[in-house]
Amino acid sequence: MNVCLIDVDSKIPNLALMRASAWHKQRGDYVKLGYDPLFDVPELCYASKVFDYTPEPEYMPDCETLKGGTGYDLSAVMPFDDYDRIMPDYSLYGCDYAIGRFTRGCPNRCPWCVVPKMDGNEVRHVADLRDFWDGQRVVRLLDDNIMADADEFCRDCGQLSDAGVHVIWEALDIRLVTDQTAKALATVKQEKSIHFAWDGHSQDDAIGRGIETLSKNGIKPWRLMFYVLVGFNTTSEYDMHRIMTLHRLGANPFVMPFDKSDPYQRHLARWCNNKFIFKSTTFDNYEPWAKYRKECA
Ligand code: SF4
Repeated sequence: MNVCLIDVDSKIPNLALMRASAWHKQRGDYVKLGYDPLFDVPELCYASKVFDYTPEPEYMPDCETLKGGTGYDLSAVMPFDDYDRIMPDYSLYGCDYAIGRFTRGCPNRCPWCVVPKMDGNEVRHVADLRDFWDGQRVVRLLDDNIMADADEFCRDCGQLSDAGVHVIWEALDIRLVTDQTAKALATVKQEKSIHFAWDGHSQDDAIGRGIETLSKNGIKPWRLMFYVLVGFNTTSEYDMHRIMTLHRLGANPFVMPFDKSDPYQRHLARWCNNKFIFKSTTFDNYEPWAKYRKECA
């Protein structure tokens, strides 16, 4: 069979397409990433889109097409058994790190997040490291909320530290940092700073306690980056409070605008996320923002 894979807008190598590629290649199918209407005549197409605002590709093949990803359909699932245990075809993108997940699901229901709709509210084990790791130095994990099952998290950290890999995590949940989870996390080599989130008041009480617990277990605050969601349901005073509190505690705040077209959110992100600018001026004195306000006055 002649199979075409269309990656509409992924920022990193697309795991679903790498798995589709592996599955079809194992069956002897011809697989190609991308579609050229002049030369390609596929019999089956997989198209993946992450963002719903991304326009459709200019050309789509005239054959059966399975569309998936958060930009198309939250309920779409890949038609393969034991999907999370298919070793991805990393050659599709020339990807030199492993990507995968141990778990799916998250017990929380943050109103801006698609995870509960896609993966459910129950955290469940779906794969082991050997299912998606092929000896690479770095492993990128896409778990929704891996700490929500502390025992599972500790077991997974054991697999990662035994393999000696360097890990890039999705944002971890600061509310779930305990001595048990912090100790396990400290055994894993980190490829980058460890990401958490301070999205709203439900995390207020956990920030100081979590950073202290991590520090006590050997993970110092400067190794932590916190996503700070702005523009969803917070005030500018609360936004600044979160940014400056994290800075005071020695962690790194990273503003995530909910609506990038909003001038306040955009300017706040540019100011906070550029550490040279952040350290050299306050947001009120940040020139592009001061200029914008003057023009609007
Ligand atoms: S904790 Fe994270 S994964 Fe879970 S619902 Fe909230 S944003 Fe989504």
